[in-house]
Amino acid sequence: MNRRSFAQSVGGAIALSALSGSSVAEQSLSGGAAGRIMAIAAHPGDGLFTMGAVLAQQIERGGTAALLSLSLGEKGAPKDIQVPQYGEMQRAATEKANHLLGVESIFFAYPDAEIPFNEEITLAVSDSIRQYKPDVVITHWSGSWHKDHKNCHLIVRDAVFYAALATLARSRPAHSVAKIYYADNWEDASNFAPDTYLDIEAIYEKWLQACDFYPMWRGQTGFFRYNDYYSALAIMRGCLSGYQHAVALMSDPEQRMSRPRSL
Ligand SMILES: [Zn+2]
Repeated sequence: MNRRSFAQSVGGAIALSALSGSSVAEQSLSGGAAGRIMAIAAHPGDGLFTMGAVLAQQIERGGTAALLSLSLGEKGAPKDIQVPQYGEMQRAATEKANHLLGVESIFFAYPDAEIPFNEEITLAVSDSIRQYKPDVVITHWSGSWHKDHKNCHLIVRDAVFYAALATLARSRPAHSVAKIYYADNWEDASNFAPDTYLDIEAIYEKWLQACDFYPMWRGQTGFFRYNDYYSALAIMRGCLSGYQHAVALMSDPEQRMSRPRSL
């Protein structure tokens, strides 16, 4: 993949949508018809805490959403719980949380902290995109200290390109994702510059309930106060955007072209 090919893949879909004036993705994120969103996260906690509210909001509006977790995040196990057992706890929490929100769960279960960046996983994610056919994909921003998050970012960008490449023969036909957004994650904060704010007021409390299925949300597995951070972040983002509670997203730099006939 190169930069130009990626831009043609993603930007091309946007340009077509702009020309037709009926972009499902654009409408979904700006008040029109709801669409299909797919979140792709390195670990389930990232999926629910940083992307879950966006998925829940889309479902609340009549759309559909899926969360693909590349690993179970099992190596975040506290001292008194074995790693495999913690992985199953993470899976169970994810299934409960997604069930509450109406989100479809997809698990790849690559080893936590060892998510590779290679053709095998990229094609697997691409196949999943071709199967689910999302209008919008949300994933990690690249500015992360965590190797799994950085690899997830790279995997998803290439997977979106592969998914749209009609000449790449796979078991399912090609599918073009209209837009990619990056999530507001405390571990992916380097150069994160949000430009899209979503009103999540209608599902804020439900999303908090979903997150509460995870022991880590309540600070039971480590030092970081996830519940305080992400519940307060929604308030802070709401202050900046004029909503009571909001989620901030960063659009992919390749898709920021606008086409006004005049200013
Ligand atoms: Zn993570």
